[in-house]
Amino acid sequence: MAQILAPSVQWQTRLTKNAMETSSMTSKMWNSVSFKQSKKGAFKSSTKFRICASSSGTINRVEDLLNLDVTPYTDKIIAEYIWIGGSGTDVRSKSRTLSKPVEHPSELPKWNYDGSSTGQAPGEDSEVILYPQAIFKDPFRGGNNILVICDTYTPQGVPIPTNKRAKAAEIFSDPKVVAQVPWFGIEQEYTLLQQDVKWPLGWPVGGYPGPQGPYYCGAGADKSFGRDISDAHYKACLYAGINISGTNGEVMPGQWEFQVGPSVGIEAGGHIWCARYLLERITEQAGVVLTLDPKPIEGDWNGAGCHTNYSTLSMREEGGFEVIKKAILNLSLRHADHISAYGEGNERRLTGKHETASINTFSWGVANRGCSIRVGRDTEKAGKGYLEDRRPASNMDPYTVTGLLAETTLLWEPTLEAEALAAQKLALNV
Ligand code: ADP
Ligand code: MN
Ligand code: MN
Ligand code: MN
Repeated sequence: MAQILAPSVQWQTRLTKNAMETSSMTSKMWNSVSFKQSKKGAFKSSTKFRICASSSGTINRVEDLLNLDVTPYTDKIIAEYIWIGGSGTDVRSKSRTLSKPVEHPSELPKWNYDGSSTGQAPGEDSEVILYPQAIFKDPFRGGNNILVICDTYTPQGVPIPTNKRAKAAEIFSDPKVVAQVPWFGIEQEYTLLQQDVKWPLGWPVGGYPGPQGPYYCGAGADKSFGRDISDAHYKACLYAGINISGTNGEVMPGQWEFQVGPSVGIEAGGHIWCARYLLERITEQAGVVLTLDPKPIEGDWNGAGCHTNYSTLSMREEGGFEVIKKAILNLSLRHADHISAYGEGNERRLTGKHETASINTFSWGVANRGCSIRVGRDTEKAGKGYLEDRRPASNMDPYTVTGLLAETTLLWEPTLEAEALAAQKLALNV
């Protein structure tokens, strides 16, 4: 947006040239365009389409075209294929035309990209194959246009290392897991940075704001920085069909959170990835930089996590608290495995301060935000409900985290000896 508002001389010249090309359309084409448009009321006058008198006129013309509804003229739609790049946190995408609207990923063709440009394949055998897995409505293009969440394979059909979805899909299709209808509610925290200096939004350049306290869920020009982005993202998610359940301003100024869920099984991961993509696009338009770093600012500033709330059918039913305790016991025994899969740089965040538990020790508690696993008061009171895994970092892969939670609590069994020892240590009578 920032660039468009200050067009360069070349940019204007290029548009003027394009405007002339536009006016050389055949008169038949032109008539059909102006007639259908004026009927739909999309353009106030057709002259706007041809004349580019001032720099603001230039901007309007581009915006008109961006907002152009092409559905009256063609059945074709644009599909934005989205995938996870080589760092495991970067989202990449490219678009293609499809001959007609689609409703299910199975109707979509596989596609490919140059994996040597995303750090995912060697140059001499660079093709990575995209398998469409989930569809969302495209809030940027509107109409029947779609966003397609894909996962990634070698030409031989083997998932590439950054494809964490494939393993999760395996876990979530296990009959034992299916029968327990696992729900996930993921709290995605993120930090907004000023584009040029990569310093949090609203912070004085080269300095710090007042200490934490007034910012969490705060309002006011000196407390809330980036609300428009959070709100635009909220609506974009609802439009797209993402199961977003809320948003809030965070403890560290310039940091925000949105929640997705409860969502069932593999769906939670797809929804988080699509929501992250939307956030990248919205911050791109706003000229603000998104970071999912778990501890963007050292010192007395909260880090960014991705708390994962989790329940199974048995946890949600009568006697569920006992099932939750048994799950906590299993989680304690696989603490190291979980930590190693919960995000890069998480050791900078899980210090035991700022509402976190130390990375080296597993702990749980009711209503305690300094624990690895928190059980809510409501759950304790009702004797059923869900648990919150507070360990995952903001840059975690939701496919990995949700899959691992289901695996550890539903498919993995400790030895009786290990179980007894852990029960004693955690004061868990299961
Ligand atoms: P916190 O109090 O930790 O900030 P939030 O309100 O931000 O919690 O997020 C809680 C998340 O847990 C929401 O996404 C919500 O939909 C989800 N949730 C609620 N009930 C369940 C459940 N039974 N199983 C899994 N997730 C749940
Ligand atoms: Mn929250
Ligand atoms: Mn939070
Ligand atoms: Mn939480």
